[in-house]
Amino acid sequence: MRLSNLPVTTLKEVPADAEVISHQLMLRAGLIRKLSSGLFTWMPLGLKVLRKVEQLVREEMDRAGALEILMPAIQPAELWEETGRWNKYGSLLLRINDRHGRDFCFGPTHEEVVTDVARKDLRSYKQLPVTYYQIQTKFRDEIRPRFGLMRAREFIMKDAYSFHADTESLQQTYDSMAKAYTNILTRIGLHFRPVDAAGGEIGGSKSCEFHVLADSGEDGIAYCDNDSFAMNVELAPTLPPEGARAAATEAMTTVSTPGVRTIDGIAGFLRSDPSQCLKTLLVEAEDDGLIALIVRGDHELNPLKAEQIDGVKTPLTMASSEQILAATGIGPGFAGPVGLNLPVWVDHSAAFVSDFVCGANASDEHLTGVNWGRDLPEPNTADLRNVQAGDRSPGGGTIAIARGIEVGHIFQLGDQYSKSMNLNVLDQNGKALTPLMGCYGIGVSRLVAAAIEQNNDENGIIWPVAISPFPVTILGLNYGRSEAVKDAVDNLAEALSKLGIEALIDDRDARPGVKFADSDLMGIPHRLVIGERGLKEGKIEYRHRQASEAEEVELTNALAFIQEKLEAQ
Ligand code: ATP
Ligand code: MG
Repeated sequence: MRLSNLPVTTLKEVPADAEVISHQLMLRAGLIRKLSSGLFTWMPLGLKVLRKVEQLVREEMDRAGALEILMPAIQPAELWEETGRWNKYGSLLLRINDRHGRDFCFGPTHEEVVTDVARKDLRSYKQLPVTYYQIQTKFRDEIRPRFGLMRAREFIMKDAYSFHADTESLQQTYDSMAKAYTNILTRIGLHFRPVDAAGGEIGGSKSCEFHVLADSGEDGIAYCDNDSFAMNVELAPTLPPEGARAAATEAMTTVSTPGVRTIDGIAGFLRSDPSQCLKTLLVEAEDDGLIALIVRGDHELNPLKAEQIDGVKTPLTMASSEQILAATGIGPGFAGPVGLNLPVWVDHSAAFVSDFVCGANASDEHLTGVNWGRDLPEPNTADLRNVQAGDRSPGGGTIAIARGIEVGHIFQLGDQYSKSMNLNVLDQNGKALTPLMGCYGIGVSRLVAAAIEQNNDENGIIWPVAISPFPVTILGLNYGRSEAVKDAVDNLAEALSKLGIEALIDDRDARPGVKFADSDLMGIPHRLVIGERGLKEGKIEYRHRQASEAEEVELTNALAFIQEKLEAQ
């Protein structure tokens, strides 16, 4: 490909609405263009990368024995009504009508369609196991599309679905898909972690997310330094503190704390540590009342865990100032467990604190030196908080926290879809058997963005070779005016092409500085520069995108040299 043919304008400035580096660089390098919120066009260079990722994913799916199909993106509502998801899926689902007024949706996922495919073709246990996959455009009307392709509304997913006669078979395919995902991410060259995950929206039992590690990741991942444990912070359990609670040493005292409502405020005011101050959070109960949930001041309430508490309304809803006033007679910020006339649940770390500080259930007052079992009854305890770095890991060792981008997700669905959609086959004895299912998604377009998040510097993208739009770029300095440069560039490109190596040729009428800057921005790993001065001595210049210095190469030796570089990858 010749840059002179590519009507893409690279951008020097960081686009204003692009928050994360991958989004910025994809726009600046001209890989994508925005159409509307969460909708993007893949431009020629970007599409090359996307196709490479797709191909790599396809190869690993084929290798795992999955069969490629292509299902319609538009799906009839009746299928979603069979599984109850037409109503349950909520506003992420883009509902549309055809000319007859019939309801359809643009598929955000394909469990219903693939189960319908299976019930039309599968007759016997002998046809099992079978895994179908597709690489296709999905639409999810995300509440907050952001970070470019990372959380788009229209995006490309590889989704696979498997059907099984028994759990062993499901487990086998689940394991081979986990292996395929590991292969995909390893071949691209990304740092990633498989993370234990619950079923979420799709439901089912076993589930694992694949996270590419990057500071911009939307997910917190709690993992153990000895690799025995990795789980989304949303789900990771915390262990109760070990040993016995320290004995009380202080008397319970009421202190005046005018206008001090926050934990940091109260800790500063009383010269106490936030870990000694207990936070009383009032949430809505199913019966319209309130429930008090208490965590240490240096801990965060975990909404999913809170929703597990008997009587707590789902989704977790914090009480409004009016509700707090009605239930306690005071404004927010001064509630505490002593004498509180509401059900109280206490995180097990908070139940371990002695001589603690808490709200006094009176305006502008707090209590200090409070002790469970002495000043108020021993509490009901539960795991209510987010895991934090330094916590004890369930696998032994210590928890560390990293940010991750979820690029893949695999689930064991069980018979949820096959049952509700009446998918049956005959077993060995001629009896009806409801197949078990697994589903396996990987965000192909999100992977492109995630790869950039992990591979960039201040000058631009640094493509992993496996998905680089081109393996090599050739910059022809003064290409339009120097016959010698033009010949050398064209001959080298031609020779590379005969070896199946396609180069991105910068033959534009542009200053060398522009060519160097764009080349760094576009991130092709191997760069050759051909200029008149070097050619006079039969030399050209080579630089790896990540090397600080360029090196000289004999023009006559350039082909062998670059081949060697490519093979060394
Ligand atoms: P998330 O938690 O990020 O919203 P999800 O759990 O809803 O994702 P899945 O239903 O597991 O996503 O979809 C499989 C894969 O599709 C995800 O792992 C992700 O890589 C990709 N994906 C999901 N939503 C988006 C999106 N809005 N934009 C780009 N890729 C997405
Ligand atoms: Mg997911």
